[in-house]
Amino acid sequence: MINEFKNKKEFQEEFKRRIIERYGRSIEQAHITEKYMVLGEMVRDYASVHWNDSKNAIAEKKSKQMYYFSMEFLMGRLLTNNLMNLGIYDLVKEGLADLDLDINELENLESDAGLGNGGLGRLAACFLDSLASLNLPGNGNCIRYEYGLFKQKIVNNEQVEVPDQWLSLGNVWEVRKPKHAVNVKFGGHVDMWMGEDGKAVVNHVPSLVVRAVPYDVPVVGYDTKLTNTLRLWSAEVADDACDAANLNEYVNEVREICRNVYPDDSTEHGKLLRLKQQYFFVAAGLNNIIDAHLRVYGTLDNFAEMNAIQLNDTHPVLCIPEMMRILLDDFRYEWDDAWKIVTETMAYTNHTVLSEALEKWPIQYVQDLLPRIYMIIEEIDRRFKYACSHDLGRSDLMNECCVIKDGQVHMANLAIIGSHSVNGVAALHTKILKEDVMKNFNDLYPGKFNNKTNGITHRRWLLYSNPQLTQLLEKTIGPAFKKHPEKLEDLMKYVDNSEVQKKFMDVKMERKKILAKYIKDTLNIDIDVNSIFDVQAKRLHAYKRQLLNVMNIIHLYFRMKADPNFRIYPRTFIFAAKAAPSYTFAKEVIKLIHCVADKVNNDSDINRYMKVVFIPNYGVSIAEILMNAADVSEQISTAGKEASGTGNMKFMMNGAITLGTMDGANVEIVERVGYENAEIFGLRADDVALIRHENSYDVWKKYNQNGDIQKVVNSLVDSTFSNDPRDFKQIYNELMFKNDEYLLLADFEAYVHAQGNIEQRYRNAEAWARMCLINIAQSGYFSSDRTIHEYARDIWNIKPVTVK
Ligand SMILES: *Cc1c(COP(=O)(O)O)cnc(C)c1O
Repeated sequence: MINEFKNKKEFQEEFKRRIIERYGRSIEQAHITEKYMVLGEMVRDYASVHWNDSKNAIAEKKSKQMYYFSMEFLMGRLLTNNLMNLGIYDLVKEGLADLDLDINELENLESDAGLGNGGLGRLAACFLDSLASLNLPGNGNCIRYEYGLFKQKIVNNEQVEVPDQWLSLGNVWEVRKPKHAVNVKFGGHVDMWMGEDGKAVVNHVPSLVVRAVPYDVPVVGYDTKLTNTLRLWSAEVADDACDAANLNEYVNEVREICRNVYPDDSTEHGKLLRLKQQYFFVAAGLNNIIDAHLRVYGTLDNFAEMNAIQLNDTHPVLCIPEMMRILLDDFRYEWDDAWKIVTETMAYTNHTVLSEALEKWPIQYVQDLLPRIYMIIEEIDRRFKYACSHDLGRSDLMNECCVIKDGQVHMANLAIIGSHSVNGVAALHTKILKEDVMKNFNDLYPGKFNNKTNGITHRRWLLYSNPQLTQLLEKTIGPAFKKHPEKLEDLMKYVDNSEVQKKFMDVKMERKKILAKYIKDTLNIDIDVNSIFDVQAKRLHAYKRQLLNVMNIIHLYFRMKADPNFRIYPRTFIFAAKAAPSYTFAKEVIKLIHCVADKVNNDSDINRYMKVVFIPNYGVSIAEILMNAADVSEQISTAGKEASGTGNMKFMMNGAITLGTMDGANVEIVERVGYENAEIFGLRADDVALIRHENSYDVWKKYNQNGDIQKVVNSLVDSTFSNDPRDFKQIYNELMFKNDEYLLLADFEAYVHAQGNIEQRYRNAEAWARMCLINIAQSGYFSSDRTIHEYARDIWNIKPVTVK
């Protein structure tokens, strides 16, 4: 078997041989999915050689390793990424072409690995790519969900959720590792007695034991042999774990744990299963890392020197009490010694300031499901309170900051207390954490809080998904930016070059045509590639304000209907967004977008100037054709609410203009490109804070002052867009009877004005192209390579490893 084929010929021979060997069919007879599987396996085996070398190199050098614990990894497809990172894409593409196979057709057979909801999960995936590409030993830990995030279909203008069977063809990238399986215990009770050493001996008698089996996915870096591991845990039945009478019940209980991605990234539902998922992958992952450490060092005393654990949001925060449990109960450490190891190992990333998204668990849940863990959390809480009134001398902050209060376990508080680092994900977000949401903690632990502005891997989001732009950049500034994205800044020398401007517009046109074809093929909608492509693609959430975008569309529609002399520059408004299944408001917005689209797109007075398109099933693969076709990037969240955003960075890197509020990383985008190369509008975060503080906002006042607003708001409930009087009632109520929590009416005029500016600016093609080029040139900062470099230096203290 040839794993590392050196040339086209070797690749072809091996490909043909493997098809016969695996399927007993010749290449002519084999089904296309069989060809895909064999190609994928060949790429994985190719990477496996490096994988093995990497493990050896890390073991030999005793390198410190980092483990990124995340409930979500929104990986998308891996075939193109892996072929490109391995540097064998062209070889394979040509080898396949000689065999009459189109590599794109095989690429499209791969299912997205949609093991996540949105930005948080995609960030984890970008981080893995950067870690490997920077030669840093850093691995992922997650759950092997049987179904990814639901697939979105639109039926009668409404979102319908369909299971995402991403494993139906099998997953070519994973390797099952039963030898690393561990048991995870739930429920039951805890027996304790005094041991001979004077410390408590603890015996947890569980009511449920689950076997956690890892599936490893190699993470290959760009132009390097270092190959890291994404470890996905699957729940299986444990030997002798239950009596035959309850067999079915037991099997179902086990199955359920890894069935689904929790389909909501901001609010709380279906709690107990979620808690089970969290402990399941935390306990399995952590025990595994500890075993590996012990095999090499025989002690856990130096654990924190050799291992760093990053907690991606509060979902994996049970790592903290679980590691305490292992050190105390299994290895008989003293509390203080154990606590030192744990806090020096753990670091926590906060992703949101939305209070409804800060995880809290009712005490009873934790106590019933994880009795020993709960005891440890209680002790952490007790010692924290003691420290507050003694060492820290701030008993005034004790009740605010403690872990257990109001009958609930506060996970963010546990995370902050049990970690040596707490980071926000954009400068503004970190500032809000330090000065407002977590001010008390920042006072208690000065220096613990730090900022790590998010990033995106420029490999997937520029080099691979936009080869046309990559080629233009390479011709203009040379190839250095591929390995050193900050070198994109060399493009600044060419922003006034009219030839480069024109070539950029040609590239953009090509990308717009590719998207237009996709829209025609999947939705049968014709769109004008000469219109402005105005894109808002992200999860549907009230704070992201897709509704504000729709309100402007409705407003423009009314204006054009009322005044035949008023016509806008042709514009295609494109939306893509999944709504959490139980989030009725968000689902109503999706319906509204469709109803407005029906009206606008079928109105022959208007549809030459304006079309509205909703692309269903937004995910990584859709994003890869959507971001790079955009002229305008809609980033219009209520200021202070979007922690960072990463969609904004993908658009910027592909030469779209940010139409946005001063929120999240938009602030840092504007800092780099300048106000004149973005379109910024609306209330600032401190304006919003002041309005809240003074309680001074009155939506009816806004409504009564502005006739345009009245027309738009009234149209929601006067059967303009739907004959069913129940439709859009909730939207109307949120705006008018809940005082417009996200301040849409407050920002409406400014937004309409900004949209008008966009149009004026687009009419000047040279100036527009110049602006896009400046955005591309300044986007290198937002490569996740920069972000990971900062984490590695400031938080993890990990160093590059060379693999020979
Ligand atoms: C980048 C990305 C996101 C994050 O988008 P935001 O605009 O930052 O919320 C969500 N989903 C997918 C599939 C992405 O690629």
